[in-house]
Amino acid sequence: MLTDTKTRKLEEIRPESGRRLRMYACGPTVYRFQHVGNYRTFLLGDLIVRVGEVLHSWQVQLVQNITDVGHLADDTGIELAGEDKMLLAAREEGRDPFDIARFYEAQFHEDCAALNIRPADVYPRASESIDLMVDLIEKLIAKGHAYVGSDESVYFDARSFPSYGALSGNRLEDLRAGHRHDADDLSVGKRFHADWALWKHAGEQRQMVWDTPWGRGFPGWHLECSAMSLHHLGETFDVHTGGIDLRFPHHEDERAQSNAAVGHEVVQRWVHGEHLLAEGRKMAKSTGNVVLVRDVVDRGFDPLALRLFFLTGRYRQQMNLTWDALAAADRRLKRWRSRVAEWAETTSTAMCADYVQRLRDAFDDDLDTPTALVALGELEKDPEIPPGSKFETFAWVDRILGLDLARDVGRPRDVIAELPTGAAELLQQRAGARDAKDWTGSDSLRDELAALGVDVTDGPDGQTWSVRGR
Ligand code: AMP
Ligand code: ZN
Repeated sequence: MLTDTKTRKLEEIRPESGRRLRMYACGPTVYRFQHVGNYRTFLLGDLIVRVGEVLHSWQVQLVQNITDVGHLADDTGIELAGEDKMLLAAREEGRDPFDIARFYEAQFHEDCAALNIRPADVYPRASESIDLMVDLIEKLIAKGHAYVGSDESVYFDARSFPSYGALSGNRLEDLRAGHRHDADDLSVGKRFHADWALWKHAGEQRQMVWDTPWGRGFPGWHLECSAMSLHHLGETFDVHTGGIDLRFPHHEDERAQSNAAVGHEVVQRWVHGEHLLAEGRKMAKSTGNVVLVRDVVDRGFDPLALRLFFLTGRYRQQMNLTWDALAAADRRLKRWRSRVAEWAETTSTAMCADYVQRLRDAFDDDLDTPTALVALGELEKDPEIPPGSKFETFAWVDRILGLDLARDVGRPRDVIAELPTGAAELLQQRAGARDAKDWTGSDSLRDELAALGVDVTDGPDGQTWSVRGR
C-alpha cells in the first residue's frame, strides 16, 4: 500500500502485467552534484523496488531519466531570468555542456552505489531521446492538443485537457493569468497563460539545439519524461515517483501530455516523497544548505548511515538533517553490523515469524520504515530469540533496508590474526555467554583473556578488546 498523490488515498499497488511492476523515477538534472536531499527521493524509488521484489516476488522494471538538456527551472521553483542552468554551468566552468553533464552523471551513479540504491534497468538521456520527443509533439499537434505559437515554439494547449489539475489540485481556472505557474515558461508566443512549451525555439547563440520540423530549438523539461516513459514502459505503467516539488507543474504537465497522446490514464499510481531539510529549510543549491554524499564520507561517516537516517523517517514527512542524527545512525549501523557478525557465528535457526510479520506489515503500510526499525531494535534485544534466528531475520530484512548489515561477518578474522593463540575462540565463547546472559561464565572468560594479554571492555555495542603491548 502506498499513498497515491492523485487519489490522495492509500492504494494497493498491483502490477498490471502479472508479476512485472513497471516504474518510472524522475532522475537527476546533471549540471551539478546531486545533494543528499535528491538521494532521499531516489531512495524512495529503491525501497519500492526492493519491497516489491522481496515481499511480493515482483520483477521490477525501473526507468530513470537523465536530464542532460538544460531546464530553466531553478531548484527552488523560482525562475531564473531566462538562464539555462546547464549552459550557465558550462560557461562558469568553461567546459562543453555535454562534458559537464557526463561528469555529474558519473558522480550520480557513484553516489547511488555508495547508498546501495540499485541501478535502474535503463537510464535514458534527454539529449539522446530527442526523436521520441519530436514524435510525441507531432502526435499532440495532430490530435489538437498542441500548437505552434507566434514565437515558433510549440505549446501544449492546457484547455484541451479537461482533467488538468487532478494531481496537484491546481485547476486551470484558479491559475491566475499573468502568474507564471511554470518555472520554465518565459515565452510570449502562447495563446493561454497556463499553456507550456513542449519545444522551445532557440536563438543563434545557443548550444545544445536540434533541428525539427518547427525549426531549431530544444525540448521543454516536462516533455522528456512523457516521451521516455511511454517509450520504455508502454502506454500504461504502474508507479511513477519523484520529489513533492515535481507534483506541479512537472508531473501535472507530464500527465496531460502522456494521457492526451494515448487517450487514457498512463500512470496508475503517483508516489511523491517529501523534502529533506537542512537548518529547517528545503535542501537546495540556491538556498546554500546543500550536503553532498562526499561531505558525509569526509566527516568519517559510512554513507549507509545516511540511508539508515532516511529510514528513520516516513517518506511523506519532511526530515531535517543534522550531523548529530547522522552520528546516531552511524553508531546504530556499526552496532548492528557487529551484532550480526556475532550472531553469524552461532548455529543458524529459522527466522522468527512474529518479527517477520511485523516487518512485512510495516513496509506494506505505506513504507513505514520507522516502525520496521523499532521492531528490529526489539528483536536485537529479545532474550527469547536465539542468535541464529536474529541473524537470519536481520540478513533477510537487509535485502530491503540495504544497509550491508552482514558486512562484518567473517571480517574479525583480520583482527583475529593479531590475537594471541586461543583468544579468538575465547572471545567468541564470551559473546555467546553474554547473549545467554551467563554473567559468571562471561566474567571468567574475561579473566582467561586477560591472562593471555587481551583486555575486554563491554559497551552498548557489545564487547571490544585490545591486545596489551600493541
Ligand atoms: P533535480 O535534479 O533537481 O531534478 O532533482 C532530482 C530529484 O530530487 C527530484 O525528484 C526532486 O523532486 C528531488 N528533490 C529535490 N530537492 C529535494 C529535497 N530537498 N529533498 C528531497 N528530494 C528533493
Ligand atoms: Zn520527470
